[in-house]
Amino acid sequence: MPAQIIDGRAIARKVRGEVAEYAAAVQARGVTPGLAVILAGEDPASQVYVRNKQRAAERAGINARTIRLPADVSAAGVRAEVEALVVDPEVHGILVQLPLPAGISAAETREVLAAVDPDKDVDGFHPVNLGRLVAGEPGFVACTPSGCMRFLVEAGVDPSGKRAVLLGRSTIVGKPMALLLLQANATVTVCHSRTVDLPAVVREADIVVAAVGRAGMVRGDWIKPGATVIDVGINRDEEGKLCGDVAFEEALEVAGHLTPVPGGVGPMTIAYLLHNVCVAAERSLGA
Ligand code: NAP
Repeated sequence: MPAQIIDGRAIARKVRGEVAEYAAAVQARGVTPGLAVILAGEDPASQVYVRNKQRAAERAGINARTIRLPADVSAAGVRAEVEALVVDPEVHGILVQLPLPAGISAAETREVLAAVDPDKDVDGFHPVNLGRLVAGEPGFVACTPSGCMRFLVEAGVDPSGKRAVLLGRSTIVGKPMALLLLQANATVTVCHSRTVDLPAVVREADIVVAAVGRAGMVRGDWIKPGATVIDVGINRDEEGKLCGDVAFEEALEVAGHLTPVPGGVGPMTIAYLLHNVCVAAERSLGA
């Protein structure tokens, strides 16, 4: 029997509906949730992402503004914008769109992200929020992993006692996802470019989360029959078509549940960003 498709668009629509109700409830208490996005430079993909975030926020009843900075802005210049937003009472969520322009180093990028107030860090990238996640304390969790966990709920897959295998150990997807699965009582293995015999490791998994960035790398014969497969990857195949890290047609024959690309994880990331903005706005009320 082919896998059941986890419909990311439909689930994201449901989450955005919940967010709109949440935003209205916070607004009724006197505060309109506010999101500010800093967009530095002209990266075409970033322009599209930021436009989509702004539009989705407005539809959910969240005030959204985009601060555009030139491609030659310095790290200090971006940081000054962040610092102004930290003290702006109308802004509850601050998002620095990555990547920053090429002239800003990885170390400077980390400094810019660290300048965001952890309580306005709706992306969940601040070291304080990463620490809170490790400690199991409430904080902001990165939006993509939050969306993936919601997929498991919607698919009726309880991670407790299951073997979960992550492909990728980035700070924005792999590591926070591993921690969330651990919190949900899965037995978690995190794979990366040095992992030996990746197919054998993946074959043990009841839950596979692929976040590598390599088109179709996870083959059908890597997947344990009935496993839940969440494909975070966003790639272009040889024909230039959008595709994930999982060979979709092959996985369809083996997996129990499977997310498509496009129409899987992507739409959920924005939905959980908006959710986090509402949480930040509610917390500003002292709730
Ligand atoms: P990243 O920072 O580039 O990390 C990639 C990870 O994959 C690294 O841990 C790397 O290992 C590992 N890796 C690379 N080649 C490998 C191989 N051959 N075998 C095993 N592991 C390998 O990527 P990311 O930011 O997490 O993003 C991953 C993918 O998800 C990308 O396609 C990105 O576009 C997509 N993404 C989608 C969303 C969404 O909303 N849908 C959000 C974020 C990211 P090392 O650590 O050893 O280098």
